[in-house]
Amino acid sequence: MQDENDISGTTPRRRPKADVLEIGGRKLKPSTLMMGHGFDPALSEGSLKPPIFLTSTFVFESAAAGKRHFEGVTGKRPGGAEGLVYSRFNGPDQEILEDRLSVWEDAEEALTFSSGMSAIATLLLTFVQPGDVIVHSGPLYAATETLIARILGRFGVQWLDFPAGATREEIESVIERAKDLGRVALIYLESPANPTNQLVDVQAVAAARAALFDGDTPAPPIAIDNTFLGPLWSKPLEHGADLSVYSLTKYAGGHSDLVAGGIVGKKALLDQIRAMRNTIGTITDPHTAWMLLRSLETLELRMTRAGENAAKVCAFLRDHPKVESVGYLGFLKDDRQADIYKRHCTGAGSTFSLYLKGGEREAFAFLDALKIAKLAVSLGGTETLASAPAAMTHLSVPDERKKALNITDNLVRISIGVEDADDLVADFDQALSAI
Ligand SMILES: *Cc1c(COP(=O)(O)O)cnc(C)c1O
Repeated sequence: MQDENDISGTTPRRRPKADVLEIGGRKLKPSTLMMGHGFDPALSEGSLKPPIFLTSTFVFESAAAGKRHFEGVTGKRPGGAEGLVYSRFNGPDQEILEDRLSVWEDAEEALTFSSGMSAIATLLLTFVQPGDVIVHSGPLYAATETLIARILGRFGVQWLDFPAGATREEIESVIERAKDLGRVALIYLESPANPTNQLVDVQAVAAARAALFDGDTPAPPIAIDNTFLGPLWSKPLEHGADLSVYSLTKYAGGHSDLVAGGIVGKKALLDQIRAMRNTIGTITDPHTAWMLLRSLETLELRMTRAGENAAKVCAFLRDHPKVESVGYLGFLKDDRQADIYKRHCTGAGSTFSLYLKGGEREAFAFLDALKIAKLAVSLGGTETLASAPAAMTHLSVPDERKKALNITDNLVRISIGVEDADDLVADFDQALSAI
């Protein structure tokens, strides 16, 4: 977020006109702010939409302005770096995108990255050192597990996990064991877990941290991968998380045509992550940032429609004789999971697990018969996608772990898009008949 009052001319970028954020005491909603927040057309020839700023570097107004910038970067002047200097650090499209992204979770600030994984990698590199312990919920997105266990493990970083549905007591006992191993650098969550759909009790995690870190030992930040339900159906910053992490490739991008990541949350933590991003260059590019600005204008429309479609499709699938069960957050049977859902979520999302009666043969026959839904991994796009995790995304997972995670051969993962709901039901109906 730019300081609107700083017009000292230290940088080539003029400040945008102050935004209208409320009218008559009414705080404007994210869906309204997505059309203009953070961009002043007067700074870009009156262009209604922000141009794509394809430049690697920015011109200083004077030598003194250049010096002033680097005094900020190096900490010789308080307040940090401001303005635009070099595109590995920042750019106008990314700044506008970050301003808008932060609105959805009422976050202090946001940062955007070249992918969800580069966001996660930059976050981890910022906070962990050799000997540290990462406490995380399990299971995590496969590449995140690889990054923590295999890659950071090579540098002496340790980890301990608790199952996504764990109670406060279970979480506390894992954190206590972690404290015996080394400094707990980060608590990293992912909710709902894929493909088990287990929700993490963020409030319980925050309470456990508050109980176990007082006074001398600084408390580790709590970060959570909010890709599956955020930013519409889950706002974990409200429940005690410090950082909410996104693969913007999914719902935020929403058209299956880009790869990007984001982190929103506390400024003091994001300032540290920004310094790491500046060093290693994991920022998103201007063109992708511009595409995301367009995506965010329809985020609420798309997610709302996809959520409504998923509710209709899941209601149909649940009662079908060829279906064993549907793992959808709208159908929670477990009381504790239902309680977490009630406290943390405002919608069940549009990504779910479908367990067919039978095994791989039945799952493949179903997938091959689909006419509207496309066979592809990923989720959160305008189009409905379906895949078989056991044979695709989780093929390399050891059998024992697959079993523990309920990744069976008859499992189909489905992400519902914004098509007509009855057309989707007709497609799933005929594909089930083809088994
Ligand atoms: C896709 C995904 C990621 C990784 O994001 P990329 O944009 O593919 O790098 C991380 N976490 C979750 C939950 C995801 O679904």
